[in-house]
Amino acid sequence: MNDECIFCRIVKGEIPADILYQDELVTSFRDINPQAPVHALIIPNRHAANLGEMGAADAETLGRIVDVINQVATAEGIARTGYRVLVNTGPDAHQEVMHTHFHLFGGRALGPMLTP
Ligand code: 5GP
Ligand code: ZN
Repeated sequence: MNDECIFCRIVKGEIPADILYQDELVTSFRDINPQAPVHALIIPNRHAANLGEMGAADAETLGRIVDVINQVATAEGIARTGYRVLVNTGPDAHQEVMHTHFHLFGGRALGPMLTP
C-alpha cells in the first residue's frame, strides 16, 4: 500500500468510489470519467505501479482479475455484446494513475483499436 496513491486509498475505503467488486486480492469500481456506457476499472489491491512491476508471482491476482472482468461484464450486461480491456503502461500509453488498472469498456460499438 502507498499512502500517496489514489487507487490504494480507494482500496482502503479512504476515498469514495462506486465499488462493483472487492475481495482480498482485487477491487473493481466505476471510472470517474467514463469513456463508454460501461467503464469499470479492475485493480490489484497490492500497489504495483504498472504491469512492468507484475509477473508470474502475481499469477493468482492476475487470474482473479480476469474472473472479475468477466463477472463485471456479465453484471453490466455487456458479456454478450462484447467489451474491450485495456491496460496503459508508461508514458507512451498515457498512463495517468501509477497503480496497475485494467480498463473495461463496453455498452456501445467501440470502433477501431487505436486512434491513428
Ligand atoms: P490511465 O490513463 O492511467 O490508464 O487511466 C486512469 C483512469 O483513472 C482514468 O480513466 C480516470 O478517469 C480514472 N480516475 C482517476 N482518478 C480517479 C478517481 O479518483 N476515481 C475513479 N473512480 N477513477 C479515477
Ligand atoms: Zn496504489
